Amino acid sequence: MEKLFSLVRNLGSNINYVQGIGGNYSVKIDNSIFIKASGTRFSDASVDSLAKCALGTPRNAQHDASQNYNKTSFSKKPSMELPFHAYLSSKYVLHLHHAQFLLLSIHSATERLIHELKKSGILDLAIVPYSTPGIKLFQNIEDIASTDTSLLLLENHGVVICSSSISGINSILLRLDESCAKCCTLLGLGTHCSIHDVTYSPAEILRYIEYLSSEIYLFPDQAVVLDHERLSPLVSKIPMNRESLSFYDLMSISGDTNTLEVLALSAYIFSSSHSLSNLATLKSHHVADIINHPSEQFRKSQLFPTFTS
Ligand SMILES: [Zn+2]
Repeated sequence: MEKLFSLVRNLGSNINYVQGIGGNYSVKIDNSIFIKASGTRFSDASVDSLAKCALGTPRNAQHDASQNYNKTSFSKKPSMELPFHAYLSSKYVLHLHHAQFLLLSIHSATERLIHELKKSGILDLAIVPYSTPGIKLFQNIEDIASTDTSLLLLENHGVVICSSSISGINSILLRLDESCAKCCTLLGLGTHCSIHDVTYSPAEILRYIEYLSSEIYLFPDQAVVLDHERLSPLVSKIPMNRESLSFYDLMSISGDTNTLEVLALSAYIFSSSHSLSNLATLKSHHVADIINHPSEQFRKSQLFPTFTS
């Protein structure tokens, strides 16, 4: 398992792949599936951040896991995406909130990306239309993709990479990165290919926070992580005397890494877009579903221990 942890920690150090407590990974060993525990970060990957569950019927996986998770030696709550991890048959399954893919997806350019991915040799892939994370997403995947699919493109959400080996995961990720970068260039989206490269004026950062507080939702984690209660104290920490700063600067002065990483992804998408009116935002019923979802409430309570409702 050390090879998996090393890969995951490496990915977790790059906010172009995962932000805050987003994303998840699993490995199947014999009749068990070991999956990232809810509320943990990729950068903390270790045996302690895994939940162990029986590999049963995917449809029942979440229910069984929530009944049994505190009875096993791995007393963690499994990621809410356990059902699709159990459905996909590959040994290793990795789910990322891949920034450049999200940029393309939110610009409805997923078909163009599929063309590039097929040219790169990835043939068994599928586009999954947006649905609420958890059981609804699993049902969508079950309808659209076979159990041995290599790559799933989840609209307004992220990607799922599946392989029998860690080197197979790396190979698919490399081709995905190259195809996304090529599409972004072809479509003139984003002058920067990485969140890391973008700097903003403090006024711009405030503008993004305004947008994100006014019910424009691009992808699910925004609804979980960003809320007025968390954002207001951040605003007061933005140093207005600076000409420009990156979200990395802001993270180092605020200490609220999880929130800022998700905010940085949103800002990256906004700043890389020609026109905000062309963005494929989440529908309001999707946002309501996410906010009220029990697993999202749990994640929120893990992230913000003072959150009581
Ligand atoms: Zn996700």
